[in-house]
Amino acid sequence: MPNNQDLAQRDLKVLWHPCTQMKDHEQWPPIPIRRAFGVWLEDFEGTRYLDAISSWWVNLFGHAHPAINAALKDQLDTLEHVLLAGFTHEPAVSLAERLTQIAPKGLSRCFYADNGSSAVEVALKMSVHYWRNQGQPEKTRFMTLQNSYHGETLGALGVGDVGLYRETYDALLLTPIRVMSPDAYQRSEGETAKDVALRAIAAMKQALDTHGHEVAAVIIEPLVQCAGGMRMYDPSYLTLLRETCDHYGVHLIADEIAVGFGRTGTLFASHQGPMTPDFLCLSKGLTGGYLPLSAVLTLESIYDAFYAEHAAGKAFLHSHSYTGNALACRAALATLDLLTETTLIRNHTLAQAMKASLETLQDHPNVAEIRQTGMILAIELVKDKKTREPFDKAERLGHRVYRHSLSAGVLLRPLGDVMYFMPPYVISHDEIELMGKTAIEGIHQALKGHR
Ligand SMILES: *Cc1c(COP(=O)(O)O)cnc(C)c1O
Repeated sequence: MPNNQDLAQRDLKVLWHPCTQMKDHEQWPPIPIRRAFGVWLEDFEGTRYLDAISSWWVNLFGHAHPAINAALKDQLDTLEHVLLAGFTHEPAVSLAERLTQIAPKGLSRCFYADNGSSAVEVALKMSVHYWRNQGQPEKTRFMTLQNSYHGETLGALGVGDVGLYRETYDALLLTPIRVMSPDAYQRSEGETAKDVALRAIAAMKQALDTHGHEVAAVIIEPLVQCAGGMRMYDPSYLTLLRETCDHYGVHLIADEIAVGFGRTGTLFASHQGPMTPDFLCLSKGLTGGYLPLSAVLTLESIYDAFYAEHAAGKAFLHSHSYTGNALACRAALATLDLLTETTLIRNHTLAQAMKASLETLQDHPNVAEIRQTGMILAIELVKDKKTREPFDKAERLGHRVYRHSLSAGVLLRPLGDVMYFMPPYVISHDEIELMGKTAIEGIHQALKGHR
């Protein structure tokens, strides 16, 4: 069996890791994981790390869940994969049935892809193609919110607004119309989250007054802009935006890739409007964190605009080799079996415990705010609580908290200087306490010598 050091060394000779300056690994080599169970990751020496961020937000019910494992083993002996053009299989059909049942009302069609970015690309293409099929080929642009993130393939990156990922590739990207985000962190004194949402809607209306005729769709991350620093907003924005999109005749794409499947306290974040988007993008938690899979759900009226004689050339010709992979669909079905009303009720209690675990941090002079939406909790660290002036990026404060937490056995990978908890739903109250205690200690350690 390899050991930690061997494997890290072999890794650094051949691998190129995502979202990583590889030179950092000279100082902090990658951590080899031998196995995982529940919320725990374990390396080759038996050291354990609590996966407080669900392995980049994908895991819902812990690692190596017996029910998902059993379903996959069964599927493996039956059918691993078959192309989904001209053919079909039970997991793909059952999953589409289940998703359309639980999604916001009206979303009755399911199109599969194999990762989140691809789902976004599918939704963008479907929207433009719908308008073309309807005789409005001029509607080809998109509206996006400030600080939004929708993935990193060129189309998805093109409708995102996080500079860190976007700037370098700007020459290759779409030019969406960028509109004020309802992000409640922007509230001025005396303003509520709802007031900010209203301001953002007014900005959206103004932009649509000018651009509505050339816009195919508005794309949003409902309730939480995750990669943009776990920025959160008032649910009233969702219903108001739905009305606004209807008024101006543009589609609404809800990217619930990160927030779907119970993360925000409801099965889907769109339920909190409530509103039904024209396109709902799902991935990440869809398979419980087991396999890559994504789905775009849409309305029957949109599906109908593509339904015609072959010669009419209206078909949606988008495909990925692994579209609707049988193993991935089966993992998703097993995950949905676990995701019941009871899960949401239990999560409510867990969410309260998460908040309580950080009680002593509320008044800390370097904590701008602790915000929470369901099972997502974020701590925004700043140099000055009053002015919210951020720390100098070069100080890599968040990264320091990350390293301190790792040495205490908790994986808390930050977004810049925003630390956050987004744990698997199987986390226990004791594990939440450990997570909270470690975050607080990590923040104190990282801040030493700073003030
Ligand atoms: C992660 C994410 C994506 C991209 O999904 P990938 O599977 O990483 O391509 C898109 N949108 C949102 C909101 C995400 O959080």
